[in-house]
Parts: sequence; structure tokens; C-alpha cells
Amino acid sequence: MIKNVVLIAAPGAGKGTAAKSIEKHYNLVHISTGSLLREAALNDDEIGKTVKNLLERGQFVEDDLIFEILEKRFKEDDIKKGYILDGFPRNMEQAKRFDEMSKGSDIEIDKIILLNVPKEELVERITGRRNCDNCGNIYNIYNPDIMPKVENICNNCGSQLTIRSDDNEDVFEERYRTYQEKTEPIIEYYRQQNKVRIVDSSGSIVNTFEGVKKIFGENQWLK
Ligand code: AMP
Repeated sequence: MIKNVVLIAAPGAGKGTAAKSIEKHYNLVHISTGSLLREAALNDDEIGKTVKNLLERGQFVEDDLIFEILEKRFKEDDIKKGYILDGFPRNMEQAKRFDEMSKGSDIEIDKIILLNVPKEELVERITGRRNCDNCGNIYNIYNPDIMPKVENICNNCGSQLTIRSDDNEDVFEERYRTYQEKTEPIIEYYRQQNKVRIVDSSGSIVNTFEGVKKIFGENQWLK
């Protein structure tokens, strides 16, 4: 049975939004390394400052720290339900190290979902993104499907929405370049394990989710 899934996509493609729908619909645990890092960046310690600096420049955080954060999260009990992992693995070293670490255990990756979005669409998704730091909801001011009902206010909890410090055009270019150089090669690595499934994510969120359901079969995951 499929229960552990990784989402791979270029920056701004909507991994977080897709992961949230999948989490709800299939009762999986959503783990976003980006969110865990943004939380760590709020701490006024050495690690917090280093992480904050790297995120603002669109650069990767070192693998050891990523594994430290992840291992802690994987120890929690809810992980038994299965996970939807967003933002990890992001380079070949992480992919191989996680495979070694999880081989034969119940956290082994079952499937990789690759969300395909043309580069032209990514910039709009990045610059229009608004986040609720309180409940984690994600909005886009250019997309009627996920626009906040009241400008800058979260539909769900009423908090003020924020813009991520790395969601601007300059940092996007650096993040995209890093994605092509470091993350894209892992797609081939997982393709060889016959784990990759591709979803056309260029249209609406509803279409993306329909694509996800088609790949895995509606009933397969329902609990
Ligand atoms: P995301 O929310 O997935 O777009 O991630 C935001 C930023 O967090 C990225 O641009 C990276 O700087 C950092 N990050 C997230 N996940 C990882 C990872 N697995 N390895 C290294 N850096 C990461």
C-alpha cells in the first residue's frame, strides 16, 4: 500500500498547497522542511541566524541540519499514518542518505509525485503567495481559487497574512537555478526505482489534485 509520498517541484510550483490537500484528503502527516526551517529561523540562536541568512538568499541549508530536524520529526508517533514530504530530499546526497536510513523500515518512500509547472507561471505564483503563519494556510492574490476573501486576512483563523522573505523575483532566480542543478538530478535517481509519477500542475489546484488522485486511485488511500 502507498503511504509515504514525496512531492518534488520547482520553487513556487505549489508543493505546500498540494501537500495540504493531500494531507487532509488521505489523512497523512504533512512534513515541510521549508516550514520547519522557517520556524528554526525565528530562534535567536546561532543556528537560527544561519538558517535565516541562507533562506533569505535562497540557498540550501546544510544536510546534517536537515537530517537532525527531520529525524526529530520522524520520531513522533503520528508518522505511522504515512507522510507527505514537501521540500525533501532536495539533492542527491539527501536522497541517498534517506534511502539508506529508511531502507526496509516503515518510513521508506513509496512514491514521488513530480508537479510540473512551466517556469513563466512560477514567478506569478511566487510573487502572489501570501501565508498565514498562525495556521499554515497558503493563499495567492492572483489565483481566484485561493485568494483570501478579505485582503491580507486568513480565511481560516483571521490572522494577518505575511510574505516569505525569499518570495521575490531576485531570490526566485537563485532558487530556480539551484533547483535545476541540485534537485532535478534526483528525479532520474527515483525514476530508476520506478517511483516517479508526474502531475501537470500548470492549471488550477483542482486539476492538480485530480492528477494526484488519478495516479494513485481514489480508493487506494482512503482510510
Ligand atoms: P520551501 O518552503 O520548500 O520552498 O523551502 C524554502 C527554503 O528552505 C529553500 O529555498 C531552502 O533554502 C530551504 N530548504 C528547504 N528544504 C530544504 C532541504 N531539504 N535541504 C536544504 N535546504 C532546504
